[in-house]
Amino acid sequence: MELVNLKDAGDTASFAEAVKRGLGKNQGLYFPTRIPTLENIDDLLSRPFAERSIEVLKALIGDELPQGMVEAVVNEAFTFPAPVEKVTDSIYTLELFHGPTLAFKDFGGRFMAQCLSRLSEGQPVTILTATSGDTGAAVAHAFHGIENINVVILFPEGKISPLQEKLFTTLGDNIHTVAVDGDFDACQALVKTAFDDPDVREGLHLNSANSINISRLLAQVCYYFEAVSQVPEEERSNLVISVPSGNFGNLTAGMIAKTMGLPIKRFIAATNLNDTVPRYLKTGEWAPKATVATMSNAMDVSQPNNWPRIEALIEQGYLPADCLRGESVDEEYTHLAMRQLAQLGYTSEPHAAVAYRALSHDLNEGEVGLFLGTAHPAKFRETVENVLGQPLSLPKPLADVAAKTSLAVPLSAEYEDLKAHMLALLKTK
Ligand SMILES: *Cc1c(COP(=O)(O)O)cnc(C)c1O
Repeated sequence: MELVNLKDAGDTASFAEAVKRGLGKNQGLYFPTRIPTLENIDDLLSRPFAERSIEVLKALIGDELPQGMVEAVVNEAFTFPAPVEKVTDSIYTLELFHGPTLAFKDFGGRFMAQCLSRLSEGQPVTILTATSGDTGAAVAHAFHGIENINVVILFPEGKISPLQEKLFTTLGDNIHTVAVDGDFDACQALVKTAFDDPDVREGLHLNSANSINISRLLAQVCYYFEAVSQVPEEERSNLVISVPSGNFGNLTAGMIAKTMGLPIKRFIAATNLNDTVPRYLKTGEWAPKATVATMSNAMDVSQPNNWPRIEALIEQGYLPADCLRGESVDEEYTHLAMRQLAQLGYTSEPHAAVAYRALSHDLNEGEVGLFLGTAHPAKFRETVENVLGQPLSLPKPLADVAAKTSLAVPLSAEYEDLKAHMLALLKTK
């Protein structure tokens, strides 16, 4: 697989290089120079998830990795199912929340962790990342127990839900968590400063392992095939997929799957009030506004960092522009969608509800819809209980961590404190 930096055509990388680098020069995103099409889609769709995913990934990555590595990574990373449930006569949902942290980020996070650990060839690596919730948990679980990789996760003290926090602060071992006396922006600023500081960047072999890493996207392509495989054959050619979007990694993966020949008629980019993309698709003007806080907070993003990849898919002629429409859903309609789903017998949370609302609003006669369920409702328990007026029971992974003690170390938002902490913790390892 050859990738090229979308900001610098002279900066190319193999899959292994792009996984290790994350971002290219000038913060540019890596993008495949060629996306293969698959001839044997029907046959692939009849195979089990892991077996099919290995084929899809090998078609994308090619033969640059050591023999058996793709198989090993998939078998370690994809250890939980992605079932499709029928919600109405013409609408399905793909549940992506049956992994260890109950969110779809487990797929990309676990796949990236397995790739990085195998590709770093025994060299110690330190993953440093800031989180306002979901990402931290997925990264922590994905790297937990992996030799030679230490993870440092910064989060704003008291600003994420206690249950969310416990999902990543109770693991211990190679997972080090820091409760920063500041907000999420302060955490991100600390990460940025650390990457600019050679003592830490080189001394500890920093890697960001963030959401723009190419390995995450490739992992996510696989569950679109899994979704289509569970939709009845006669409905596949009319399938419209609605993706609840924040940084647009999830949607990018879906569009890559379509490019490879997976039968998906079109996509809906469903956002909350942070509607930069739906407005852009309607007016042609890229005009981000200040980010607003909503119930679907993992999508509170006004400058989505994967967007250049979606533009590349269209500009390079892989997909027609009209295969993507945008829809922004406000808080009131998100509430309403959650209640409608509950009446249909399906308990949902705000992110999936945004996608459901956009889909039911946009779906034409004769089309079949599928929306992605990106998180388990219990991850947004307070909101779901408030909107539906019913108590929600905790699934096992959440009930288990609720009883454990947080191991997070409190620190100020001063960079020197973080630096001293990280060097003391990791320098000798
Ligand atoms: C991260 C996240 C999203 C947004 O996904 P992107 O790939 O950033 O568009 C949607 N829902 C949930 C629950 C998430 O955690």
